[in-house]
Amino acid sequence: MKGSISSIETMSSVDGPGIRCVVFMTGCRKRCLYCHNPEMFQKGELNYTVDELVNKLLRYKNYFGKKGGITFSGGEPLLQTDFLIPVLKKLKKENIQIAFDTAGDYVGNVEELLKYTDLVILDIKDTREKEYEYLTKVKIEKVEEFIKILNKSQVKVSLRQVIIPNFNDNLDYLKSLKQYIKKINNVVDITFLPYHRLGREKYLKLGIPYPMEDTLDMDKEKCDKLYQEFLKL
Ligand code: SF4
Repeated sequence: MKGSISSIETMSSVDGPGIRCVVFMTGCRKRCLYCHNPEMFQKGELNYTVDELVNKLLRYKNYFGKKGGITFSGGEPLLQTDFLIPVLKKLKKENIQIAFDTAGDYVGNVEELLKYTDLVILDIKDTREKEYEYLTKVKIEKVEEFIKILNKSQVKVSLRQVIIPNFNDNLDYLKSLKQYIKKINNVVDITFLPYHRLGREKYLKLGIPYPMEDTLDMDKEKCDKLYQEFLKL
C-alpha cells in the first residue's frame, strides 16, 4: 500500500506542540477560497510505502523531546486513512506523539485512526451552513459527522479559526462560534488566524484566478481584539 505525500518538513514549531515533523499529504475535496496550498488540491502520485514513510520519520525521533512528534497535514490527510492506519500503528510502537491538521473531511475508518492519535488540530472554517458552503464549496454535514466521531474518542482537540475581513470579523460570528464549539469535546485551545493573501502568488503561477482578489489582509490587532472579546463571551 502506498500514500501520496507532497513533502515532509522537519523541525517545525508551529504545527502542534514542541518540535515536529510535518507530513504534507496531497489531495483535498474542499476548495477553500483562502487556501494557500492550491497545488495540493489534486491527489498526487503514490510515492511512499508504509515502511518508507515510517523509517524516514523515525530518523527525527531524537529531536521530538517530550512534547514534540509528527503532524499529518495537507491537503486533507484524512483522505488517506487506509494508508495512515498502519503508519500510525508503527509510530505508536515507538511512542511517537501524533497530531492531525484537518478540516474534518475523511474517508475510511477514521474511528480506528483516532485510536492512534493524540491531537486533532481542527480548522473550523465557518459555523454557518451557507457561509461554510460559500467558503469551502462543500456542505457542512461532513465535518459535523467528523465531530460526532471525534467526540466518541478521547483525542484532544485544538481549534483553528481564520478571521476574514467583512466576512466573520464581527460579534455575531463570535457568538455563533462560541455556541458551535460547545458541541466539541476535549477542546484544549482555540487560535484565531488572521486571513492573509500570501497564497496569491501560487494561484497566479498555476494560472488559477485568486478567489479573494477583493479581500485585504485581516488586521492583526483587530484579530487579537476579537479573540479577547471571544474569550469574554
Ligand atoms: S481544507 Fe485546507 S487544503 Fe483543503 S482547500 Fe481548504 S485550506 Fe486548502
